[in-house]
Amino acid sequence: MSTTVVHSQSQLPQEHGSEANADVILTGLTVAGLAVAIFDAFAMPLPPAAVLAALAVAYLAGGLPPLANALKELFGKGVLDIDLLMVVAAVAAAVVGAAMEGAVLLALFSIAGTLEHRAMGRARHAVEALMQLRPDTALRLGPDGAVTEVAVANLVPGDRVVLRPGARVPVDGKVVDGEGRLDEATVTGESHPMKKGPGAAVFEACVNLDSVLTIEVTRGLNDSTVARMIRLVTEAQAAKAPSERFSDWFGQTYTVAVLVGAILAYFGFRLFDYEPEHALYHAATLLVAASPCAVVISVPAAILSALSAAARGGVLFKGGAALERLAAVKSFAFDKTGTLTTGRAEVTGLQVADGDEHGFIALLAGLEAHSEHPIADAIRRAALARDLVPVLVTGVRALPSEGIVGSDALGEVWAGNDRLVQRMGATEAAQALAADHGEDTMVWLGRGAQVLGAVRVADAARETSAQALASLRKGGVRQIVMMTGDRRAVALRIGRDLGFADDDIASDLMAADKVKLVEKLSAEGAVAFVGDGVNDAAALARADVGIAMGAAGSEVALQAADVALMAEDMGQLADAHRLSRKAAAIIKQNLAFALGAMLVLVTGGLFFELPLPLAVIGHEGGTLLVVLNGLRLLADPIRKG
Ligand code: ADP
Ligand code: MG
Repeated sequence: MSTTVVHSQSQLPQEHGSEANADVILTGLTVAGLAVAIFDAFAMPLPPAAVLAALAVAYLAGGLPPLANALKELFGKGVLDIDLLMVVAAVAAAVVGAAMEGAVLLALFSIAGTLEHRAMGRARHAVEALMQLRPDTALRLGPDGAVTEVAVANLVPGDRVVLRPGARVPVDGKVVDGEGRLDEATVTGESHPMKKGPGAAVFEACVNLDSVLTIEVTRGLNDSTVARMIRLVTEAQAAKAPSERFSDWFGQTYTVAVLVGAILAYFGFRLFDYEPEHALYHAATLLVAASPCAVVISVPAAILSALSAAARGGVLFKGGAALERLAAVKSFAFDKTGTLTTGRAEVTGLQVADGDEHGFIALLAGLEAHSEHPIADAIRRAALARDLVPVLVTGVRALPSEGIVGSDALGEVWAGNDRLVQRMGATEAAQALAADHGEDTMVWLGRGAQVLGAVRVADAARETSAQALASLRKGGVRQIVMMTGDRRAVALRIGRDLGFADDDIASDLMAADKVKLVEKLSAEGAVAFVGDGVNDAAALARADVGIAMGAAGSEVALQAADVALMAEDMGQLADAHRLSRKAAAIIKQNLAFALGAMLVLVTGGLFFELPLPLAVIGHEGGTLLVVLNGLRLLADPIRKG
């Protein structure tokens, strides 16, 4: 039974309903047939024909489906299914006159299979529950102000929809009118309501808590964040993790070995003077005892459960492999800006060469209007707060890890850090303007070798950062470093606050330096890079595990990462790490238990005349136990709020 679950994993999940019912009916028939035979044997003798018929029903209902499935696997894919072993053992039992014991085997096998199917289905379908949360219709706002109800599938980017309180957002879009709170737990796992006003992004399937909002559609139905999440999780479940491939390979090889072994055992028992029937019975017992069902199911049960639990908490693993790699990570490297810090920087001071503060900020904001860096955002907000209209700047180019250049009516202007100042040959002018840079990020604005002024920008550590770092350190991570393109003084201020030793703070880095550092760490053991995906996609890709935070809002991050934290919450990182380690531990437990149980049963079958029903109970019981042990992960509390 275990293998049928493993194989059906690669199919897209739609079965369930009717197939599950058929499962239950067949199991019921098998058990009923067995019950009649047991009644006959232990309570009151029944007509032999009736007993025979009952046993036939048990064998057909319990044996035909696995036989059919095994033949399909054998001739369709050329793989030997473990189910076949059970059928062979039951038939062998019947041949030697132990038909009732064979029926016990089939009944238990069938019950366990049904339970397992249900349990694994629960793990596999946990995320598709999201599907039900996607609204079918939306209230479209016409150009004339009229509101009509339309199918969500008919909405296109640019359409406007009205969202009433209590309703779920029908599309990915941005707020154009109104202000209110949204519960985004569906997408980000974050149950704390989020305030949203004009310009804010909203995601399909999240709940509008308290006010009327007008939303402009930005993505089609199939590109929405929820649609992507469902696709990613489905793909992740289908992709096999390394240990899963091991257990599949083991199952295959071992199934053949068990068949051959049982035949050899038959002749072995004969050598030891067993009657032919006695020998066959014990060979069948061995066959059941040695079947590796528990080994094969032990890994996927744990991985499926962990992937589902994580996804419901807003953490997407791109497959079991990412889960296993995260558990084995030796060091973590963190991007600073927007990752360890909030990325919602504030302008805290300015120095202007000619004293015209307004003209200065308007020009700087004009340049930064074209950047998506958190610093740019701070500067745009500073201009907005002073009611300034940004100067028109064209031909803008970003200089990653340095700044930005563009042209206004007078010619080329630039804004950026010390490195850019140096490259422009403006170091002396900068020194003359502001010698002491303090512990804030400095953004210089200049024209050629001339410096027009500078703003100080400060960004605070996320509230959740310190706690998450502490939890990683406790979780056995060897080294945690911070990487930033920012100045040393700023890096030290933030880093020391978060408990980094000075040696673990790398500053003044270009994007390529971050990649080099990641490579250096990776040479000493698996490294995870945690970034926000804004300008660290290369490091995310290069790390053994790339982890992007705030991925709900960023397409790049969702693509580039191995693990996507949908919320902007460091707590999700600590939880994901803990979950991955727990999953790895459960996989180890399951494999050890499954192999150990098999060893005990085989020893019993070889040397202690273990009865067939006991072998069956041990075998099926062990298989169910590993599934249930894996399912424990499903209940794991990945942070909500
Ligand atoms: P981090 O590694 O902290 O995420 P980045 O590599 O994105 O930082 O940037 C490094 C430095 O480059 C910033 O601290 C800032 O001084 C400068 N910089 C980058 N982009 C800009 C920009 N758009 N405007 C001004 N300065 C910038
Ligand atoms: Mg950054």
